[in-house]
Amino acid sequence: MRLNQKSVSPCLFGPVPSRRLGLSLGIDLILPKTCSFDCVYCECGKTTEKTLERKVFVPTEKFIEEFEDYLQKDYLKNTPDFFTFSGVGEPTLALNLGEVIQIIVPKKLNTKLALITNSSLFFDKALRQEILLVDLVMPSLDSVLEESFQKINRPEKRVNVEKIIQGLIDFRKEYHGKISLEVFIIPEINTSKKELDLFKEALLQINPDEIQLNSLDRPGTESNVEKASLALLEQIKNYWNLKNTTIVSQYQYRLQKNETLNQDELKNRILSYLTRRPASFNDLKESFGNPDFLMSLLKEMMESKEIKTILMERGFFYVLSDFS
Ligand code: SF4
Repeated sequence: MRLNQKSVSPCLFGPVPSRRLGLSLGIDLILPKTCSFDCVYCECGKTTEKTLERKVFVPTEKFIEEFEDYLQKDYLKNTPDFFTFSGVGEPTLALNLGEVIQIIVPKKLNTKLALITNSSLFFDKALRQEILLVDLVMPSLDSVLEESFQKINRPEKRVNVEKIIQGLIDFRKEYHGKISLEVFIIPEINTSKKELDLFKEALLQINPDEIQLNSLDRPGTESNVEKASLALLEQIKNYWNLKNTTIVSQYQYRLQKNETLNQDELKNRILSYLTRRPASFNDLKESFGNPDFLMSLLKEMMESKEIKTILMERGFFYVLSDFS
């Protein structure tokens, strides 16, 4: 996947439609692809910088400049439901995450704050304190057994699953916002009876407001990752029999208000979107509207070899041409 894109692209991206958040403006304070994990299902390609060390990747001044510009020019035209800390890597590795939250919250905007995280740094009390003002935290926990954790998430060597679970339990006690915990199911890897039983125990202790069962939807890093069937997800949901468990099965899109983009602007938005994740035509249409114009531009971008398509179970997905 193209990794030099971020150095020229802004730290804000979108707004993009999100399955879990409606319309979301992404805030990416990380350089690609820096993460404490290298998940087999990652949509952003292989981790090139596997680390547990927090540091400033995007200076706060750079964020302020882009954010103020965005608020002045675009915010009211197409107000997102969420500002979401996410992107090409693990957002909590950004040492200035708390500082950026402290800049956004006092503005009292009509948009909530969300954080998508792999939970690997939740053992760190200072980090947990930094994110207390976020409205919605979406941590992931894909396994509770070290063996499957290593297989799925391929973490930095100091991370272990026990530490993650304890971090999530501690965070729940300290945080009063909403926790929507995602569990990514991979058949035969994290679906044994032993794992599901221990998972239930851990989930009861963590006590999230919501549990979201998810499975492969877009091309992941490893092509042999199997998608869980809806029947399997239903089975797990029933087996756990825990309140507020849902299956992420379809996008909850909210159409954007009309926005006029010229060809270059649209092309840049598409490239920025595809830098972060593959997209079907519908994904792009929901995000950018104007299907005829979009289709002709995508054709042009295919011809000039800036992008290509790959076939997945859910159909064809557009990716950057160097996506592998
Ligand atoms: S899915 Fe998230 S946690 Fe896993 S490698 Fe990708 S960015 Fe990191």
